[in-house]
Amino acid sequence: MALKITLDLDLCQGHSVCLGECPEVFDVVESDEGYPQVILLQEAPPPELREKVEKAARYCPNHVITVTEA
Ligand code: SF4
Repeated sequence: MALKITLDLDLCQGHSVCLGECPEVFDVVESDEGYPQVILLQEAPPPELREKVEKAARYCPNHVITVTEA
């Protein structure tokens, strides 16, 4: 089953931990806020990426990323 990722962008401060853990799904780019923020490269990543996506969610210092089943 594919994964569904939800981001709480109000909390994201561009630490890029997510990008380090799973570059297949997360990128960090300049935002309108004037600092970098996360974007999703895949809205519904395949199950093979579950472990990496869950690590990104766990290690994000601001708890921006929520992972559920699609
Ligand atoms: S989602 Fe978390 S780890 Fe990724 S850039 Fe935002 S604050 Fe940093």
